[in-house]
Amino acid sequence: RAKADGRDGYRAFVADMDTTARAITVLESDLRRALLRQEFELHYQPQVALSTGRIVGAEALIRWRRESGDLISPADFLPPAEENGLIVPINEWVLREACSQAASWPAAGLPALRIAVNLSGVQFRKVDVEKVVCAALDESGLDPKRLELELTETILLQDTDLVVSQLKSLQRRGVTFSIDDFGTGYSSLAYVKNFPVDRLKIDRSFIDNLRNDVNDAAIVRAIVSLGHSLDLDVIAEGVETAAQVAHLRAEGCDEVQGYYFGRPMPAADFVDLVRRETLLVRSA
Ligand code: C2E
Ligand code: MG
Ligand code: MG
Ligand code: MG
Repeated sequence: RAKADGRDGYRAFVADMDTTARAITVLESDLRRALLRQEFELHYQPQVALSTGRIVGAEALIRWRRESGDLISPADFLPPAEENGLIVPINEWVLREACSQAASWPAAGLPALRIAVNLSGVQFRKVDVEKVVCAALDESGLDPKRLELELTETILLQDTDLVVSQLKSLQRRGVTFSIDDFGTGYSSLAYVKNFPVDRLKIDRSFIDNLRNDVNDAAIVRAIVSLGHSLDLDVIAEGVETAAQVAHLRAEGCDEVQGYYFGRPMPAADFVDLVRRETLLVRSA
């Protein structure tokens, strides 16, 4: 613990996911060991089409299951991983794991759902992202059309030519892209213009008070309208209540994701959920 506050030390809080908040320190050596011991896991959160009410995809979200059993949130270990570069091997693992998981679904009786994976800006600075994604696709045999990559401002603010050329070749293979946390960036409109985007993901901060805040409601309306004018799909994240669902449906939002439909869950639980849904629909 002596190194805890050293150069490679990083203080974070384990909060929200488990019990009470307590400070933890994430060291580079801890993250290296976690990779070697395969302590990371992916949880899957359903994405639902408002036109049918059915699950059309899932977002893969990383968690760290420590030896102690604690489940650590990405907000607590990804910032240090981005600082020390370990985000690169970690996110390569995420891509391979998410693609192979999604590739296994049809054989398990699930429809060929979309799988969304978050990328980090650090990856574009350090490695050939196109190559890493293609390797994950080839290894898993996943149809590239089923893979969606979520881009955030940390990616979109970088050397545009370099990022765009990589995204365009992935797009030619069939991979799709969404802009995550849309509306919170410095130049959200420029991103839509400059990058090969297929979907806008309205940030949770606009959804929270959607029902009582006229400004949030106006912003949501504007994003849906912007997306549709540009022939993009629009999904809302952080949807927690039936009233928010009704509001988003009335606004013409295409898809929703949030606790109302399901929290991020282990792969086996997600497979069960979709299987039950598929059976229900078939017997209806
Ligand atoms: P994000 O991509 O915007 O993911 C959405 C976050 O909102 C997730 O937090 C999810 O659990 C949470 N969420 C979903 N529905 C609701 C809801 O109804 N209410 C509330 N209050 N929260 C909801 P999570 O899993 O803690 O992930 C946090 C962030 O960490 C993600 O934000 C993403 O930026 C990043 N992240 C997660 N996994 C990965 C990964 O594999 N690679 C990279 N580069 N980043 C990741
Ligand atoms: Mg995301
Ligand atoms: Mg998001
Ligand atoms: Mg967000």
